[in-house]
Amino acid sequence: MTFNRNRFRPTGAGLGVRPPAAPARPQRPPLVLKTAEELAIMREAGRIVAQAHQAMREAVRPGISTGELDRIAEQVIRDHGATPAFIGYPKPDSPPYPATINACINHELVHGIPRDDRFLKEGDILSLDTACIYQGFVADSAYTMPVGEIPAAVQRLLDVTEQALYVGIRASRLPNETKDVSSAIQRFVEKHGYSVVREYTGHGVGRSMHEEPQIPNWWPSSARQRQWQSVKLVPGMTYALEPMVNAGRPDTRELDDKWTVVTRDGSLCAHFEHTIAITEGDPIILTLP
Ligand code: MG
Ligand code: MG
Repeated sequence: MTFNRNRFRPTGAGLGVRPPAAPARPQRPPLVLKTAEELAIMREAGRIVAQAHQAMREAVRPGISTGELDRIAEQVIRDHGATPAFIGYPKPDSPPYPATINACINHELVHGIPRDDRFLKEGDILSLDTACIYQGFVADSAYTMPVGEIPAAVQRLLDVTEQALYVGIRASRLPNETKDVSSAIQRFVEKHGYSVVREYTGHGVGRSMHEEPQIPNWWPSSARQRQWQSVKLVPGMTYALEPMVNAGRPDTRELDDKWTVVTRDGSLCAHFEHTIAITEGDPIILTLP
């Protein structure tokens, strides 16, 4: 699950509406650093998410429904004493999210609702995103995979997006700031001729699925006017990095179900995500098996 940056704009900004007189800047919740004990719990949460992904990955084949994949993930999460973090997730003006996973096919980017009547076909690409809550802490991870055989050009989109995630992970070390992570992802993706999605971002994760800081997958020269905040990385920070990459233009739109986000031009897209922890040295990937 991603963070929709539009929801966190200061009141009025970008809407042609005069912002309120005070406060001049939006109030942001404080950054929550995790203790070693909390990180150990988040690592367990991440392991459970990775196992749910592994079970889905083994089940993916032409003819299976995304609803079936959802049940597989939910079972693994509950079997480990955890709870699906997406079920009931609130969104303004929408029904709460109804499922354990987001399942997106081809030009669907994020937040696709799994269905029993939505079947995978040979040659599709499938993005699966899930998160669980374990002992009060959340871990969040996603990937895009082929269904059967796909053309080499499409595999390249998946490879570049996955590599962009690791570019972001490698940049997630002291003394960098979040904007260094954002810029590194953007540079890498654009160098390969693809575009990064603007409206949805990576995000801090911990006791809630979406905490500070936000980590966009790009960093425009207008960041300051947009009142974007770059945060210095600190040991104990935990965040989900999630490059969303389009083969065509960066623009997206939301479908009538108020959840599924697709590329506006119908181009293919990919999405890879890990939850990581910042340390004095290399970051730790929490959502590995
Ligand atoms: Mg996610
Ligand atoms: Mg996420």
